[in-house]
Amino acid sequence: MEERNLKISIGHLYPRLLNLYGDMGNIITLTKRCEWRGIDVEYDPIGVGDRIKEHDLYFIGGGQDKQQQEVAGELYKNKDFLISERDKNAVFLGICGGYQLFGHYYQPFEGDKLLGISLMDAYTVAGKKRFIGNVTVETNFLTPLTLVGFENHSGLTYLQGDTKSLGKLKVGNGNNGQDGMEGGRYKNVFGTYLHGSLLPKNPHFADYLIELALEKRYGEKIKLSKLDDELELMTHNSLVGKAY
Ligand code: GLN
Repeated sequence: MEERNLKISIGHLYPRLLNLYGDMGNIITLTKRCEWRGIDVEYDPIGVGDRIKEHDLYFIGGGQDKQQQEVAGELYKNKDFLISERDKNAVFLGICGGYQLFGHYYQPFEGDKLLGISLMDAYTVAGKKRFIGNVTVETNFLTPLTLVGFENHSGLTYLQGDTKSLGKLKVGNGNNGQDGMEGGRYKNVFGTYLHGSLLPKNPHFADYLIELALEKRYGEKIKLSKLDDELELMTHNSLVGKAY
């Protein structure tokens, strides 16, 4: 299929509330990497009270506990719809606070448990220590294998059932600082603690997500053309294995 006749739609969940440490950079990366190939992008910022439409890819960023509380209620109202979207192979990317709400619940240090939307079999409880710093993850599904980013969270996420991690930690604390894993994946739902923002420094992961979103929309695998990622991968490689 000729790339310039293709399109993907992106639903951005609650950007006015969950958008920490430049998470908007993920939307910019997905959009530009499509536009550079002539692929049309429909961008739909979704606010509190809005009806959530069907999209090929949904993104949700991170935020402090207070913003998570406000978003959790809104997300939970749309839980059945979003699970049905997951089961139609829509792509989801959640960063930190957004990732935590992809599970069954997030128990903050203070206050009531926030119910998640159970897109993946996982749960999060607040820990006493805040994990802040660079992270390197070794995946088994990307080329190059690594993902790099920055973490800043006190939540400890535990994966269960069929939920897989994004990979093994080479640097950083990841999901919970105990099991040596970072992030979560179930079907086309991806969650990670990597801020930074994540995708500008991991163009191979951005393209992986775009290809999944195109496959969801068109019902067939579509290999994206190569872009000149010399600068992006130079930045990526400069961060691999770097703690400070
Ligand atoms: N409030 C959550 C935590 O501290 C998420 C933080 C974030 O999104 N960076 O774990």
